[in-house]
Amino acid sequence: MRRLVEGMPKVELHMHLEGSLEPELLFALARRNDIDIGFASEDSLRAAYDFANLQSFLDIYYAGLRVLLHERDFHDMAWSYLRRVREDNVLHAEVFLAPQAHLRRGISVRTMFDGVRGAMERARGELGMTTGLILVFQRQFSEEEAFESLRASEPFADRVVGFGLGGAEVGNRPGKFARVFAECRAQGFRIVAHAGEEGGADYVRETVEVLGVDRIDHGVRCEEDPALVRELAESRIPLTVCPLSNLKLKVVRRLEDHAMARLLRAGLAVTMNSDDPSYFGGYMNDNYLATQAALGLTREEIREIARNGVAAAFVDARRRAELSRMLEDYWAKAG
Ligand SMILES: [Zn+2]
Repeated sequence: MRRLVEGMPKVELHMHLEGSLEPELLFALARRNDIDIGFASEDSLRAAYDFANLQSFLDIYYAGLRVLLHERDFHDMAWSYLRRVREDNVLHAEVFLAPQAHLRRGISVRTMFDGVRGAMERARGELGMTTGLILVFQRQFSEEEAFESLRASEPFADRVVGFGLGGAEVGNRPGKFARVFAECRAQGFRIVAHAGEEGGADYVRETVEVLGVDRIDHGVRCEEDPALVRELAESRIPLTVCPLSNLKLKVVRRLEDHAMARLLRAGLAVTMNSDDPSYFGGYMNDNYLATQAALGLTREEIREIARNGVAAAFVDARRRAELSRMLEDYWAKAG
């Protein structure tokens, strides 16, 4: 099963570039930009990745943001992730960037976008990968600030495939951002939102009914509402599930308890993703392998999850057909 999973062509649809900084790169960027991040060595930083709680994660996460100043830094962050996941046979990746986190530090949208775009173009040429950029509004801030982030991004709209919603979920309901997502949709962008991670099934329902999302990020707590589960099976709105992230942030106590297999078997369009791979203990293959072992996913279920990823990607029909053909050829050879 390991060889089968590792070699399988994959699509990743839920990962935060800012959550992919490995200690070595974070340290290198800190040195290059002469920033004291409060850790003496890469090893002590790596040890701190063993989070005691959400706050200890956020401390490192924000230290990570501070080292990103120049176009080259954003390039190196994105390139490092893309090169790494190509080793996991990820052929298409849609990556999240949170402009507000950087605009608030005085970094321009052009700096972020030029850096990330450079890495994406390189990935196409050197790695044969396709990519998409999704900008994530931070839900702990106001809708007005989300609008400002949207306006700041508009000159670069041709580089963006969609908009999403991330940050502290509980207390910041999806409906708070109804107007800004309506505007995104009117401008022709795709819409995703984190829901049902720390928030309950009512957050997932509101994300679908009020925001009208094309995909739900996480969504695993939809399980608390059986009627909603039936509706999601019917509508096939994809869920971008991140099992190791859910384990690390204690959405589930044990991976064996994770909803992924139950939702898949209930007919939902479940996909596999890494979320913040550097911080949460695993890239795509790690997520597939740990989840397969914990939940007893069959070969056919692994294949179905990968197919769901291809079907849920924001790509044109030609690229979807290519990705689909590569996946089906792989399984045909695997027998
Ligand atoms: Zn996420």
